[in-house]
Amino acid sequence: MSKKPTISIVVPVYNEELVLPELHRRVSAVMDSIGETWELILVNDGSRDRSAEVIAQLHEQDERVKGISFSRNFGFQIAVTAGLDHALGQAVILSDADLQDPPEVFPEMIIKWREGYDVVYGQRKSRRGETWFKLFTAKLFYRLIYRITDIDIPLDTGDFRLMDRRVVDAIRHMPERNRFLRGLVPWVGYKQIGIEYERQARFAGESKFGGVRQMLPFALDAITSFSYVPLQMATYLGFTIAVISGLAILAVVVIRLFGPHTPLEGQGTTLVAVLFLGGVQLISLGIIGEYLGRIYDEVKGRPLYLVDQRWGFEEQGSRGAGEQG
Ligand code: UDP
Ligand code: MG
Repeated sequence: MSKKPTISIVVPVYNEELVLPELHRRVSAVMDSIGETWELILVNDGSRDRSAEVIAQLHEQDERVKGISFSRNFGFQIAVTAGLDHALGQAVILSDADLQDPPEVFPEMIIKWREGYDVVYGQRKSRRGETWFKLFTAKLFYRLIYRITDIDIPLDTGDFRLMDRRVVDAIRHMPERNRFLRGLVPWVGYKQIGIEYERQARFAGESKFGGVRQMLPFALDAITSFSYVPLQMATYLGFTIAVISGLAILAVVVIRLFGPHTPLEGQGTTLVAVLFLGGVQLISLGIIGEYLGRIYDEVKGRPLYLVDQRWGFEEQGSRGAGEQG
């Protein structure tokens, strides 16, 4: 096996057979032009198309292309984690397979890294080919995260970034299952800087994160892993309601004792109040449940992923093979 490359490029792959050859072409063109040694790690996250075959083929042609195939779909965050586990470079660049994050930006990131920055993240100046719904919800989501968490997640930033070895190692030492990388990376600290770029439209294939069904769990993971605010909301709400109803009780007593003899007609009011409180309690329980479920997942301590096949790696331990990082 050749010696360690300087730059590792980690790309999660889920049903991307159409884009992989083009990705390889553009990455090699860019990386060879700046004369860095590099490896491209393609993590096949249980694709249903021919992505695995394409990865094997690319590895045949160019041994700088390496591959990992999961036993099934484990999701984007886990695929990236596996890539980080296997990367040998002094710096690791994370990128989408679909060329939305243009490889032509890599050299600029590498320059910043050479200047001494530990994390260089891409900030989207514009996003082409995205629905207004996605743009709107993304904006809302980032503003919300900004308000309720302690870490500063930079605005308009996705997962496209370069990380120094020490940041990668720090992240590899975070054992959590619930991996919201966009939060973990700022959490690490060190010297971080953003560079602007134009987010392109997808080269081919379709987005896996367009729908509410993918976005909602993602948002919940992000919030629960970095904020207790939802849990505290139950407390605040409880106090508020207790104070208001305390005052109401007083008012009722006073009216009963000293007021005119109109009986308080209360059936409807009582019902509404009880139902309202019931609703609030169920919501609070649900919030606790969101956290509890995640705690349960962590406690079970299952491996983060299972590897089916590897291309270009010597046998080595990984969290997929049962060893805990
Ligand atoms: N991806 C993955 N596992 C999944 C879903 C997506 O590895 O379960 C990969 C996908 O192949 C792509 C990246 O994650 O390289 C981002 O996905 P996509 O481009 O569909 O998301 P978008 O850019 O539209 O947010
Ligand atoms: Mg994409």
